[in-house]
Amino acid sequence: MSTAPDSDFYSLELLLDTDGRQLLARVREFMEKEIEPVINRYWTREEFPRDLIPFIGQLGVAGLAYDGYGCGGRSSLLDGMVAMEVARTDPSIATFLGVHGGLAMGSIYLCGSEEQKQRWLPAMARMEKIGAFGLTEPEVGSGAARGLTTTARREGDEWILDGQKKWIGNATFADYVIIWARDVADNQVKGFVVEPPTAGFATTKMRDKIALRVVQNAIITLDGVRVPEASRLQNANSFRDTAKVLRLTRAGVAWMAVGCARGAYEHALAYAKERQQFGRPIAGFQLVQDQLVRMLANVTSSACLCVRLSQLQDAGSAEDQHSALAKAFCTVRMRETVGLARELLGGNGILLEYHVGRFVADAEAIYSYEGTREINTLIVGRAITGTGAFV
Ligand SMILES: Cc1cc2nc3c(=O)[nH]c(=O)nc-3n(C[C@H](O)[C@H](O)[C@H](O)COP(=O)(O)OP(=O)(O)OC[C@H]3O[C@@H](n4cnc5c(N)ncnc54)[C@H](O)[C@@H]3O)c2cc1C
Repeated sequence: MSTAPDSDFYSLELLLDTDGRQLLARVREFMEKEIEPVINRYWTREEFPRDLIPFIGQLGVAGLAYDGYGCGGRSSLLDGMVAMEVARTDPSIATFLGVHGGLAMGSIYLCGSEEQKQRWLPAMARMEKIGAFGLTEPEVGSGAARGLTTTARREGDEWILDGQKKWIGNATFADYVIIWARDVADNQVKGFVVEPPTAGFATTKMRDKIALRVVQNAIITLDGVRVPEASRLQNANSFRDTAKVLRLTRAGVAWMAVGCARGAYEHALAYAKERQQFGRPIAGFQLVQDQLVRMLANVTSSACLCVRLSQLQDAGSAEDQHSALAKAFCTVRMRETVGLARELLGGNGILLEYHVGRFVADAEAIYSYEGTREINTLIVGRAITGTGAFV
């Protein structure tokens, strides 16, 4: 008999070793006991539960798939399943971890020198220091590969950063903020680790989001911020290097989309078994079963795709288009799934206390960040046709 929960319909967890399954179980227990009971309050107030960061840190999941520097050295498959497991209870906490462990730590891991990795990663792996990743700008989103307007100008042993960033998750409280800027000397995109508080660096929290309200997104203003050459990521020489980070993190977002869909599905299934109409549980109606099975098919097919993507990552053969296809496909299936779950709950589907409404809202942000469906589709389209169609 499988020990995996029912919604892991094809027992994908059994692909993990015993240690991996135990870690996943610890993450699940933490999320269900410590996060689920309180998360709606934080979501309503647009606040992040910062006092819980040390406890999240104790799970040991930040930088789980990186080797050395105090990181986990585990498989991408386990890393992906952990992202899914966290999102299954709450997509905001999953996003917080994705920004910290994926985008910020991943930038240092993939683009930092040996000395820089030693300097920053161990404390980030322990989550004593938190990271953020600043690529997007108010006027530059999808077109970041070509059009960053934030500039970096070298002056002796220092760089001077000027510009604005928008949507930067964790930025209001992060210790290390990766800023991607265009070097005015050679026009190439380079990465800098800014350590607030520092002169010229200011954040404004973005308010009134209708999705991922727990995540603290900010507009960052860089007004002559001075960064030592020693804090320029030594192996980030062009946007191609930034793209390596995105390749990694898009796979994580695909897994998160599975978790978001799975959480909504599980709440809907439980509700269908409890909720009575016409004198019997609505789970007994054919049309309701059709909805449930469509949701389960979405979750299962997306998870299977992600498993294979993780295996390609572990084999070192995953390319941009592999992550892009998974991100685009899984987020489309997620959006349909959370919509079906909301429909199944009827009016209660829009009440936060039933949780599904939060998944519906949060799915909208996951659908658009780390490359919209269109941009990820264009990445795959370029790979299969040999012709770029971005502009
Ligand atoms: C909650 C949230 C958190 C985020 N966190 C971060 C973060 O931590 N760090 C960070 O750097 N960024 C972050 N982002 C930014 C995110 O990555 C961008 O929102 C995303 O890349 C899309 O950019 P945009 O919103 O500017 O949309 P735009 O690029 O303006 O796109 C608008 C529409 O035009 C379409 N479009 C654009 N170009 C093309 C084209 N060539 N062909 C067809 N259609 C096209 C898009 O698909 C989209 O539908 C976050 C965003 C959100 C919503």
